[in-house]
Amino acid sequence: MKLTKTEFKKYLICPESFWLEKKKPEEFKGGEMTDFLKKLIQDGYDVEEKVRELFPSGVLIDEIGDDVLVKKTQEALKNKGIIFQATFKTEEGLFVMVDILKFNDETQKWDLYEVKSSSEIKTDLAHNHIKDICFQKITLERASIEVGNSYIVHLNRDYVRKGDLDLSKLFIFAEVSEQINEVYPEVSFHIEKALDLLKEDDLKITSCSCLYKSAGQRCDSFSYFNPQVPEYSTAHILRGKKLMELIDNNIFDPKDIPDDFKLTDPQRLKVNLQKIGVEQINIENIRDTLSDLQYPLYFLDYETLLKPIPQLDGYNPNQQIVFQYSLHILEKDGKLKHFEYLADDLETSTEGLVESLKQNIGNIGTVIVWHQTFEKGRNDELGKLHPKFKGFFEDINRRIFDLKIIFQKDYLDPRFYGSASIKKVLPVLIPELSYKDLDVQDGTMAMSAWEELLGEKDVNRKKKIRENLLKYCELDTEAMLKIFELIREL
Ligand code: SF4
Repeated sequence: MKLTKTEFKKYLICPESFWLEKKKPEEFKGGEMTDFLKKLIQDGYDVEEKVRELFPSGVLIDEIGDDVLVKKTQEALKNKGIIFQATFKTEEGLFVMVDILKFNDETQKWDLYEVKSSSEIKTDLAHNHIKDICFQKITLERASIEVGNSYIVHLNRDYVRKGDLDLSKLFIFAEVSEQINEVYPEVSFHIEKALDLLKEDDLKITSCSCLYKSAGQRCDSFSYFNPQVPEYSTAHILRGKKLMELIDNNIFDPKDIPDDFKLTDPQRLKVNLQKIGVEQINIENIRDTLSDLQYPLYFLDYETLLKPIPQLDGYNPNQQIVFQYSLHILEKDGKLKHFEYLADDLETSTEGLVESLKQNIGNIGTVIVWHQTFEKGRNDELGKLHPKFKGFFEDINRRIFDLKIIFQKDYLDPRFYGSASIKKVLPVLIPELSYKDLDVQDGTMAMSAWEELLGEKDVNRKKKIRENLLKYCELDTEAMLKIFELIREL
């Protein structure tokens, strides 16, 4: 039996889902290594490597196979120095690889350092950094290592890069020994529970504890434990007492909610949508909303690179670099123009982009985006990075209209399954426009492609990556344009 730190974290989030992943991996839906997950892992490695530079005498345990790693660690421990990825396994199966283990000459104990790519210490259910490092401490103690102080090393959110990275200011070393002591009994208890659970070959449960929770709180394993609940259920529309009442009456499908069941207007609208099975469109409201838009209409979309370590001057940790935009401009007379920008190098990426935007977005006209928080946030950051353009970006933000809003209240379709995301709306309304045939299909793939483009020497490959990125971003604004044209005709 083996219980790693990552697995224990999963156990703390949900014992049932943890059990399913470990004991019936063929039934477990959430285990896919997505591009986004790969990116997060790579980001974690990048941050860890930077922190290691602050420990120049550290020795890396870098072998293949658990037993070899453990053996090499035991050898390295004899030197009483600094070890990266020190690996321990206990008799009952606890397994950890410690980011940094440092012998403290004063206390004659080993200090633990856990590196995080976040800008804070998290203690929520999904990411509890304190319990995470406590699991390591317990494992080390059970492997007969005397642990002294424990630290979480995380990024300093207030750090602003200027020239070479100043590692002493980029990272915060937070001593968390006290907090670990507070959760120690609870973590020890749960370790035993998790180990016991792994001995079970069948959970013998007919539903899991998220049955009464709203759909957003459930994980991918929900359908395994609750096969009686349809994919789009009452929990997508209701929560709290009303949801509980329906579930206690075995009502899971919105179509089965009695007509006299008390609902708010928005809830009733969503329920009716499922019962009738056809779209509910408030044409009056849509026309009213669209009449406020001012031509020319600018359909704008950004692509960004998100890195924990600031790559450029003026950037904070985990701040996004806007490296690309696509802009469709629709004149009142129907004339359509398309502009785009894709940075070719990192250093000048946003300089060229803001100049290009300024040239192409005039002083008059509504700027249309999908999910305005993203574009508005980037505009604020671009204005800060390029003070000459601050007023320009403030003006754009004043002129932004979020097309998504129409699909949150006035254009509902049962095939959107309660979502107003463009990824759900586009395939229903404009099925011929699809990302499926593109080499770059989402924002994470765009980030990787741009990083590849920056390092690529082969001219032909570089050209191909550029084409892929341009096609992807153009499709984002074309999708908005086509959806707009469709609702304008209502
Ligand atoms: S839906 Fe909730 S209780 Fe059920 S397996 Fe997932 S997290 Fe656990």
